[in-house]
Amino acid sequence: MSTQSRFQGQVAVVTGAAGGIGGATAQRFAEDGADVVLVDLDGTALEEIAARVERAGTNPHVITADVSNPSSVEDYVSQALDRFGRVDAFFNNAGVLGPWRNLFEYSEEDFDHVMSVNVKGVWLGMKSVAEAMMKSGGGAIVNTASVAGLSGTPTVFAYGASKHAVVGMTKSAALSLGSHNIRVNAVCPAIIDTPMGEAVLRGGNPDDIDAAKDRVSEMYPLGRIGQPEEVAALVTYLCSSDASFITGGIYPVDGGSRAR
Ligand code: NAD
Repeated sequence: MSTQSRFQGQVAVVTGAAGGIGGATAQRFAEDGADVVLVDLDGTALEEIAARVERAGTNPHVITADVSNPSSVEDYVSQALDRFGRVDAFFNNAGVLGPWRNLFEYSEEDFDHVMSVNVKGVWLGMKSVAEAMMKSGGGAIVNTASVAGLSGTPTVFAYGASKHAVVGMTKSAALSLGSHNIRVNAVCPAIIDTPMGEAVLRGGNPDDIDAAKDRVSEMYPLGRIGQPEEVAALVTYLCSSDASFITGGIYPVDGGSRAR
């Protein structure tokens, strides 16, 4: 069935929009009829995604912002409201991997940075966007966690901690916001073919990226790593009216790797 008009008249805000998963999801929202607001720290890369969204048929609003900064978060939400009047869907997705370090190797500075983007940024985004959604009668929020939010990842210690926090915040927010007709879910990708996915592969085997990709792919029942469009398909489904009874859910998009 065509999904081309399922977000017609709706507004979607995407953070981390200049990255692989955020860019593919912004494009999918636009293809499915939404007005789109693109938020990222990297203003240059955002321009390229903005061009892709325009080719999909809509003129996006582009905002360079740091999601871990409270006043920047308030600003991107108020810019979205000034431009489009409402927010119906929010993909709360910006994140950093942080260094490839274990429990003992992590510096306090690196730990704080990962937590400030991946945890504080997700919290601040949900808070400001939910306030706007409450005024307009509801909406849907999808947070990006990770399979690293479902089991331990000793090699990227703070990242794993931060994504477990995203899972917890998603459940708590779903409980708080259900009565306001705001659904909150999280997606948990395994390795996806983006700059961050490549950084994960390089962390595991810096000398031979193809060998690392092959080895990881063998661990996934579907025999390959994922594509950003495959995450975008789940995110947009969860934001659509087809998912109207789904909230507080934590959804792997992982090629079956967690079935092992
Ligand atoms: P990516 O590196 O391509 O994109 C991440 C984007 O977030 C970048 O454009 C970056 O500029 C932006 N960003 C970082 N810090 C920011 C900040 N403080 N304020 C605003 N923007 C900021 O990576 P991706 O793979 O597209 O990752 C998207 C999300 O998916 C992240 O939350 C990541 O943790 C998660 N994830 C990725 C994978 C994977 O293998 N690619 C797996 C599981 C989860």
